[in-house]
Amino acid sequence: MSIMVTRSSMPKLEDYIEEIKPVFESHHLTNMGPVYKKFQKQLIDYLEVPELSLFANGHMALEVAIHALGLRCESGEVITTPFTFVSTTHAIVRNGLKPVFCDIKPDDYTIDTGKIEELITDRTVAIMPVHVYGNLCDVEAIDRIAKKHNLKVIYDAAHAFGVKYKGIGAGNFGDASMFSFHATKVFNTVEGGAVAFRDRKYGEPLHELKNFGIHGAEDVTEIGCNAKMDEFRAAMGICNLRRIDECIAARAGAAGRYNERLGNVPGIRLCTPQKDVLPNYAYYPVYFDECVFGRSRDDVFEELKKHDIFARKYFYPAINEMTCYRGQYNRNTPVAHDVSQHILTLPLYEGLSQEEVDRICDVILG
Ligand SMILES: *Cc1c(COP(=O)(O)O)cnc(C)c1O
Repeated sequence: MSIMVTRSSMPKLEDYIEEIKPVFESHHLTNMGPVYKKFQKQLIDYLEVPELSLFANGHMALEVAIHALGLRCESGEVITTPFTFVSTTHAIVRNGLKPVFCDIKPDDYTIDTGKIEELITDRTVAIMPVHVYGNLCDVEAIDRIAKKHNLKVIYDAAHAFGVKYKGIGAGNFGDASMFSFHATKVFNTVEGGAVAFRDRKYGEPLHELKNFGIHGAEDVTEIGCNAKMDEFRAAMGICNLRRIDECIAARAGAAGRYNERLGNVPGIRLCTPQKDVLPNYAYYPVYFDECVFGRSRDDVFEELKKHDIFARKYFYPAINEMTCYRGQYNRNTPVAHDVSQHILTLPLYEGLSQEEVDRICDVILG
C-alpha cells in the first residue's frame, strides 16, 4: 500500500447529505446563503477571531485581502519570505506590488524579524509573513516593527488553522490573516479559505471585492473578482469542523511517533515545539544534514519513493529561485535557500497509523 504525503479528512457521507438537504430544498446555492452564514459564525467561534470573510479558496482570499486593505499602488513593496507556497508571492505580484524577500530563521523557518528593518524603504507598504508549517511567526516583534514604520501586516496563515499563541487564536494578529481550507490542509472545505480581521471597516471591501466589486443594488465601485464561498463548501466545512479536534489529535499521535523515532538521530533536525504555542501538527518537516546523516534529502526522498512512500520537498525551490520570479527580485536569502535544499515533509494525516510511521522511519533510518 502506498503512503501519500497527505490524505484529506472527510466527514461521513450521511452527515454531509444532512447538511446539504436545505440547499436542495431552497435552491439557494451560493451568494452568501444561510449555510455560508452558519459556517462563518461557527468558524468565528472556533478560531476565536472578531471578524471573518469566507472565500472560494485561500489564494483568492489573500489576493483580495491585499486589495481590501488598500495596498494596491504603483511601485509599492511588500516584505515577505521566499520559503512558502508560491501563492504568497503570487498574491503580492498579482496586486501590482513588488515582493522584497526577507530571510527566515533556521529553527522554525518563519521570517527572521531581525532582518526586516534593513529591507524597509519609503516604498514599503506592508509585511506579509507566513506561519509556515503552522509555526507561528514572532508576532510581537512584527507588530512592533509595523507600528514603528506604519506598515500593514497580512499573515499567510494558510497552515495555522487552530494554532494559538498564549491562548490567542492565530487569526488575531496583524491587520488580516488568511486561512486556507484546501483539501490538503489540516481543515478543509474541499477548496476554500477565509480572511480573519479585527477592524470592522475591512468587512465591506472584502465582501464587495470577492463579489465583482458590486456595491448595493445598482452600482459597481471596484474592479473586483469572483471568489465567494458557495453553500456546498460551507456545508463541507460545517461537517469537518465537528471533527477537527479529533483530527488534530490523530495528527499529534502520528507526529509523536515520528518524534520518538527521529528525535535523537545525528544529522536529522526537527522543528522544536514553540514556546507558548498550541500547535496543529499541520506538517512534519525534517531537515537532513547530509554531512552528518550520510544521505541527502534527495537520497531519502528517492529511497522512500522506491518503497511506495511519497514525501514532499516542501518548499523547494525557494520562490526567488522559481522560473517565473528568478532574476527579477532579490535572492540574498541564504537560510531559505539552504533549508529548501535540505527539507522534506513526511506523510502526516488523520488516518496515518503508528505502523505506517514506523514503516516510513525504517526506510529513512535504513
Ligand atoms: C495552500 C496555501 C496557500 C493557498 O491556499 P489555497 O486554498 O490552496 O488557494 C497559500 N499559502 C500557503 C502557505 C499555502 O500552503
